[in-house]
Amino acid sequence: MRKVILAGNWKMNKTIEESISFGKCLRKMVVGENPEILIFPSFISISYLNEVLKGTKVSLGAQNMYYEEKGAFTGEISPSMIKDAGAKYVLIGHSERRHIFGEDDALISLKVNAAIKNEIIPILCVGETQYERRNNLTDSVIEKQLRVGLSYVTTPQNFIIAYEPVWAIGTGINATPEEAAQAHKNIREVLGKIYGENAAQEISILYGGSVKPENIANLAYNEDVDGALVGGASLECETFVSLSEKLKSAKMK
Ligand code: PEP
Repeated sequence: MRKVILAGNWKMNKTIEESISFGKCLRKMVVGENPEILIFPSFISISYLNEVLKGTKVSLGAQNMYYEEKGAFTGEISPSMIKDAGAKYVLIGHSERRHIFGEDDALISLKVNAAIKNEIIPILCVGETQYERRNNLTDSVIEKQLRVGLSYVTTPQNFIIAYEPVWAIGTGINATPEEAAQAHKNIREVLGKIYGENAAQEISILYGGSVKPENIANLAYNEDVDGALVGGASLECETFVSLSEKLKSAKMK
């Protein structure tokens, strides 16, 4: 059975103090194991949150990492460094990394590989731009991002995919449930071609892009949508907890 996951990507938000205060709130409010809750704070807050959330089912992740283990890579952070701080997950190939910082599929594949080698679970983010969608390139763009991004991954056990259409991230315009369902179906088919159909059924695929308490249930009713990766709406503890409750009831239907 694949996992249902709610992941909060804080992007470049929250000081250490603000992160700790969110962690304390979450500690009080999150009880069960379903959905699995993942928080992606800034690098500097990971170890503080790791202390605050000790003994809970909440897991932490980093928003990025470099693929080398150590050396002359000023400003970068290694897999073992994020792991040491308490990260069990890492976002790789987030749209903002691809489009603001110029990360390409080849670099992303090295990062995915390094995460798995270090026993950190990568969430590989894929998604098309508005231009690509308008020109019917959505499926082929995503297939390439998956095939290249996963090119070093021979066994499909230890990664998660997030479908995040670029035009939906931070814009307030979410994909419709039908658009999300179609993209998730395509992703599962591509994963099936790479790893076999049975293995593809076990891989969690999250939707991301302007998820809010008002739309999470409709997006998550689809059987190929295994949860959500949330940016803006993950910044406030009560809203995030409400997303978690709504996701849980949508998946229990
Ligand atoms: C994200 O950062 O991955 C994201 C989906 O952002 P938002 O929810 O704000 O669109």
